[in-house]
Amino acid sequence: MSKRTVPRICKKCGKEFLAQKSDVNRGFGLYCNKKCFNNNYIRLKYPKEYKIWISMKERCSNKSSVSYYRYGAIGISVCDRWRESFDNFITDMGQKKEGMTLDRIDNHGNYEPSNCRWADRYTQAMNKPRGRAKHSTSGYIGVFSYNNTGKWLVKIINKGTVYRIGVFQDKKEAALAYNEAAKKHHKEYAELNII
Ligand SMILES: [Zn+2]
Repeated sequence: MSKRTVPRICKKCGKEFLAQKSDVNRGFGLYCNKKCFNNNYIRLKYPKEYKIWISMKERCSNKSSVSYYRYGAIGISVCDRWRESFDNFITDMGQKKEGMTLDRIDNHGNYEPSNCRWADRYTQAMNKPRGRAKHSTSGYIGVFSYNNTGKWLVKIINKGTVYRIGVFQDKKEAALAYNEAAKKHHKEYAELNII
């Protein structure tokens, strides 16, 4: 057996087959052939949700995804139950209503049943003070107004954990501190403030 393949049970017909390891790591490689893949009725029944499921996995695990730096690179992941199966995802989330998108309740949390819901844009904006503050309180990434003291709090997220970098008098100094922390935590995926 090649090191690049791994034995799996086809989700449609139940046969054992060899899937590409690279596919499995990205949450694919679930079906033994194209016919089984296409016959997976649940995917055809929920085409919009299926698209959302695919892109959720892509931005968390595919380094070539344009959004990877905001998800996978900072440790946001898809739970095993959802990564392995679209059926599980639909069972937990149900069908989405028109205009709704997949929302993480805690913006620093992962894609998992306890942290996800279908929400419209308004609900999402109201429930994401941290997300909203990202650029608005200071104009810098990771720099937040500190309890009306006139000082600036620097925070960074890595693998779902929030790290408090420090409190600074000067906003630019805070932005520079964020950049240093981002280089350390996010390496080549760091999104830096332009100062
Ligand atoms: Zn099959």
